[in-house]
Amino acid sequence: MQHPPASSWSAAPVLAALLLLVGTTVLFLVLRRGPAEPAGVASVGAPGFRAVAEVIGRSVEGRPMVCYQYGNGPRALLIKASIHGTEGAGTPLTLRLMEWLDAHPETWKNARIFVLPISNPDGLEALKRFNAKGIDLNRNFPAENREDSARFGQAALSEPESRALHDFILRIQPDVIVAIHQPLVCVDYDGPAPAEALARRMAAATGLPLNKLGARPGSLGAWFGETLRRPILTLELPRTLTNDPDRLWSKYGPALRELVENPESWVLSLTGADGAGGADGGRSRSGSGN
Ligand SMILES: [Zn+2]
Repeated sequence: MQHPPASSWSAAPVLAALLLLVGTTVLFLVLRRGPAEPAGVASVGAPGFRAVAEVIGRSVEGRPMVCYQYGNGPRALLIKASIHGTEGAGTPLTLRLMEWLDAHPETWKNARIFVLPISNPDGLEALKRFNAKGIDLNRNFPAENREDSARFGQAALSEPESRALHDFILRIQPDVIVAIHQPLVCVDYDGPAPAEALARRMAAATGLPLNKLGARPGSLGAWFGETLRRPILTLELPRTLTNDPDRLWSKYGPALRELVENPESWVLSLTGADGAGGADGGRSRSGSGN
């Protein structure tokens, strides 16, 4: 597998400063509220102030994985970012999304929106793709196509971060997941309808091409999409833009807002297709990225 070297990442100093801010904010929220306190009690104006914050797990080095829940309706959407620490653009993008959710509570009053801005806290801190043990977390899920290895982990869910995310997903049962990665510059999907239709909408709204990459072995997409047969979208952002939250939000925010505002689209087939969704296209592919 090819992995982009950290040195190719020109925005590292700016993002490092941003992540320090993010980390401080998250830490503040965690310390201030703790995982069990009710929503909206503190930090008005900080991203997530109307949400219920929950520490869903901790990284190898003990950093919290904080997920924010908006609303308590029957349908659920999970948007998660930065499972690869060198693909951090999803973090400022999801923080902007949370600012928007804070300002527009009418959009989530009949749904549950879960936002996980940092899925690999140690990797993001170190600006490395992997977790602190050198494992690719997005190859560590118990998908049918998983491969045991030193890089993917010697067993499924060998890592605390992937275990936390796995258990959280089984608990909240999201209708749809959006995973934000870089730098493949496309919208990808796995699983049955409405995955393909939603991916087409997202591609149209972002200007990114729809590109069926195939489920990587042991990836979240392979597990949730192909093994559990549930819809999951992968938003693959360009490698540039990492240092520009405003540009990220203006370009990719509308697609996320459209998804959030239309919970009926999470469960209905928008195409009338049979739901196969091209699911077998390269399911065992093991190329780079994603
Ligand atoms: Zn990735």
